[in-house]
Amino acid sequence: MDIPGSLRLVLERIHNAAARSGRDPDVITIVAVSKTVAVPVILDAVNAGVAVLGENRVQEAREKIRECRTLSPRVRPEWHLIGNLQKNKAKHAVQLFDLIHSVDSAGLAGEINRHARQAEKVQRVLLQVNLSGEAVKHGIPEEDLMGLLEKVSDMDYLKLEGLMVMPPFSHEPEESRPYFRRLRQLADRAGEAGYPADELSMGMSDDFEIAVEEGATMVRIGTAIFGRREKKV
Ligand SMILES: *Cc1c(COP(=O)(O)O)cnc(C)c1O
Repeated sequence: MDIPGSLRLVLERIHNAAARSGRDPDVITIVAVSKTVAVPVILDAVNAGVAVLGENRVQEAREKIRECRTLSPRVRPEWHLIGNLQKNKAKHAVQLFDLIHSVDSAGLAGEINRHARQAEKVQRVLLQVNLSGEAVKHGIPEEDLMGLLEKVSDMDYLKLEGLMVMPPFSHEPEESRPYFRRLRQLADRAGEAGYPADELSMGMSDDFEIAVEEGATMVRIGTAIFGRREKKV
């Protein structure tokens, strides 16, 4: 895989999608999803300009993050946890990640807050919303979002930055659009209620252009940058 080439293509597609919808492309961050990708390839991506890496497993990320700490601070990437987090791993997640995209219950938020307090760190978080009912396992149901926003905003060591969604799997990217649009509406509503949630983490390799059209500020892209993963995770 030609990482600089694929990254350039992704950037170009983001720029085009932003232009179509009258948005500033510079507010859109690529979270390069490096699960299953080896450290030398990750370093290629960082050297090609990737500033944010996304991992979905705490264990797997730990080793990679350690190895990447040898990078000069000038190019040292941020690490985001994009996958489901179990409460018993909250402590490690706080140690490792700059932003956790997958907070989906008051219990998990409380655990992260507790460990962040111990670590004297303010942990940046997004709330993952489940807009598809039974079709996906994780995320807070839409009707419970306001309650969770209220609780999280009372937790001193959490900094709420926005919302995240994973639409149900589909072969047709356009089918994701209503989920992206809905997430944007929910973020607007949260803002009106006094809980600013400006970051929208939505869109993956197959549907990121649609997500950009609908307001994404973070697109989580694995395959289109690193190539196909051998095993499904
Ligand atoms: C794997 C993964 C992605 C990236 O998927 P691609 O289709 O390879 O771009 C994005 N978000 C989450 C939560 C993932 O687990």
